[in-house]
Amino acid sequence: MNRATISALKVSIIYAVFASLWILFSDIAVETFFDSPYLRAVAQTYKGLAFVILTALLLLILVLRDNRALEKANDIDNLTGLLSLNMFIRALNSTIKQLNPGERILLGYLDIDDFKSINDAIGFEQADLFLQDLANDIKEAVLTGAFVSRLHADQFASFNVLDENIHLDNHVRDFQQLFVRRAKKNSIKATCCIGVALYPADGVNAKELMVSATEALGVAKQQKNAIQYHDKELTERAMLRRQMVIDLQEAISKEQLTVVYQPKYNLKTLTPSGVEVLVRWIHPEQGFIPPDVFIPLAEEHGLTSGISKLVVNKASTELGNSTLLGNQVKHVAVNISATEFNNTQEMHELTEFIQSQVNLAPYIRIEITETATLTDMKKSVEIISSLQASGISFSIDDFGTGYTSLAMLKDLTVDEIKIDRSFVSGVEDDHRSRTIVNAIIAMSKSFDINIVAEGIETAQQLKILQEMGCQEAQGYYLGRPMPLDDLIKHISPTSH
Ligand code: C2E
Ligand code: CA
Ligand code: CA
Repeated sequence: MNRATISALKVSIIYAVFASLWILFSDIAVETFFDSPYLRAVAQTYKGLAFVILTALLLLILVLRDNRALEKANDIDNLTGLLSLNMFIRALNSTIKQLNPGERILLGYLDIDDFKSINDAIGFEQADLFLQDLANDIKEAVLTGAFVSRLHADQFASFNVLDENIHLDNHVRDFQQLFVRRAKKNSIKATCCIGVALYPADGVNAKELMVSATEALGVAKQQKNAIQYHDKELTERAMLRRQMVIDLQEAISKEQLTVVYQPKYNLKTLTPSGVEVLVRWIHPEQGFIPPDVFIPLAEEHGLTSGISKLVVNKASTELGNSTLLGNQVKHVAVNISATEFNNTQEMHELTEFIQSQVNLAPYIRIEITETATLTDMKKSVEIISSLQASGISFSIDDFGTGYTSLAMLKDLTVDEIKIDRSFVSGVEDDHRSRTIVNAIIAMSKSFDINIVAEGIETAQQLKILQEMGCQEAQGYYLGRPMPLDDLIKHISPTSH
């Protein structure tokens, strides 16, 4: 039997005893004091009425007492003894109403990074204990006058009126330090993020302030161990980015991304030698979004392997149905991201996927930027060798922009390098660019590596690179990236 039942039973027994005694003694009293039957009848009626009024009053008192106990229980978070969310909101609203002109309130949300893995590592009991200890620290510590609540499992909220002399940043950092010290005491490896909203700048009531604090925390949570003040512009940007990621995911899954082809030319014969496949995203509302904008976003959110497969698949369908493959187009270059290149599993899947496209597979060349191969040279050598063993050739993109460009060729057996556009654009009048391009060409030749000059925009650049002995070239002067139909017209022999 629980406490509520026992207490209800107690009340019933007390009520039964007192009511019986009342009936017994009040009847004796009526009999004793009144002789006339009329007066006795009147006394009985009033006695009944008094009984009803008294019991009603008693019931009212009991119900009120119960309600208050219930409200009190709801005001408190069971685990930590902190204020419940409702109580916190009420306290915040009433504090706002009582503020003196010019006073400000700081609302901070503290969220533990990766709490799930902490739970997994130390078990629920220890994790609960940590939350309780942390709650006690927050209650007791620096934040005197603060109201504190636990919003979710591992998320705390605190607000206090800001003292005029207080240093805002230090104050927020104290909040974070409290967490750091507690984690250390409990021997837990954990960090936390804090989102901050200020009254009145970020909201004029509890609801608005809490939305702002949530947004600030959302931005902070994009990193770990971060503090973020609410900033409308920043939040809007973060929301736009978030929306763009969602849209990009949808575009990938619905295969709404398309591809264009930029021709490459043999510089000796000035005939087409291959194409580079470049991805395109026409957003339903925002229109064309350049790959330089959405590829980094895809890298951040693990979407690049989806893009690569889509690009290979589109190229395979489109080029496979044309007569270009093996004729004007002897290789098809596909760009992949550093994140994908450095992920063994994803590279393995991509290789298998390419091999499954039997028409296209023999022509595929993977392009990867120089900087992507630098993170782990030994691993890069392995990945490149395994690609080559699968019949996929390999090209280093944007060559010359990394720090160890020439030295890396000592270890990497690549099939091709593409001289970055920044050097090509300088060959006409910048002596240093010309020297660098000459050196790259000379060395690549001695290593038997194919060289492509990227971003040729003028006849003069083309001529200089031809004279320098560069083998292939690509650029707006020779052909912009274009859809397959245009490419066919552009490079078919009759068009020249
Ligand atoms: P990138 O691989 O260096 O590709 C060459 C970029 O230079 C392309 O821009 C192309 O349109 C542009 N370009 C070509 N010739 C000229 C020229 O003569 N002058 C100038 N100014 N630009 C020229 P795009 O298509 O906007 O692509 C930008 C970058 O986005 C690419 O640079 C590549 O890093 C990335 N990217 C494109 N498609 C894919 C893809 O399917 N997957 C991945 N992971 N990255 C891609
Ligand atoms: Ca490229
Ligand atoms: Ca490039």
